[in-house]
Amino acid sequence: DPSDLPAIEVRGAHKHYGALHAVDGIDLRVERGEIFGLIGHNGAGKSTLFKMILGLVPATRGEILVSGASVHGRGFRAARRHLGYLPENVVLYDNLSGLETLHFFARLKGAPLQQCPVLLDRVGLAQAAHRAVREYSKGMRQRLGFAQALLGTPRVLLLDEPTNGLDPQAIRDFYATLRKLQTEGVTIIITSHILAELQERVDRLAILATGKLQALGSVQALREQTQMPLTFALTL
Ligand code: ATP
Repeated sequence: DPSDLPAIEVRGAHKHYGALHAVDGIDLRVERGEIFGLIGHNGAGKSTLFKMILGLVPATRGEILVSGASVHGRGFRAARRHLGYLPENVVLYDNLSGLETLHFFARLKGAPLQQCPVLLDRVGLAQAAHRAVREYSKGMRQRLGFAQALLGTPRVLLLDEPTNGLDPQAIRDFYATLRKLQTEGVTIIITSHILAELQERVDRLAILATGKLQALGSVQALREQTQMPLTFALTL
């Protein structure tokens, strides 16, 4: 796992869905140990970009590297194992308990089953481990999805709107967990459409609109670069 290589590198990436240009020439480098925020409205292309990094959606053009391994190359299977992914709408089976759910995902990923109760505790679901997911609130389901993303101790986390459905206290707890993971060397890319939530909590931020990066940098650099309130930049 060469530590001098960026965690993620996206070079001139494009994705067309028929006539729709969902990802329109993106260049992006996420360094190891960074918390990187990706902000944009619905339809901006955030989820598509994540799926391209995961190798789930092939790029129409351009290149994507995970720890230096091309998504299209031979080394990607090994690199892929170090990626943890929380999809925007995590699919859960209502009849399974929280613990059974994690066991299910652990088997799929080849992660150790002993991790499951530890991760449930980490996301604050230890008490609910044996309750059916049917009885979980939206926030609990989201936290279970996050625990699923942590299975296998990934080096890079791709979190698609992870705080969707969480109450303010749960959001604070969630970011505290992210900072702890960061101290353990984990790289985190997190999407949101709420600028206020991300801007104080990420190391760098990119603004994505209609498939293009409108701006990229630290929150302070973006304020200077765009010479307008960031909230306004976001409406572009
Ligand atoms: P959201 O927060 O709503 O998920 P997003 O920024 O993640 O928004 P994407 O889901 O990446 O945006 O979608 C980008 C554009 O690509 C949208 O216009 C969407 O309708 C379109 N799109 C996404 N997936 C497909 C697909 N499989 N086929 C056709 N069009 C798609």
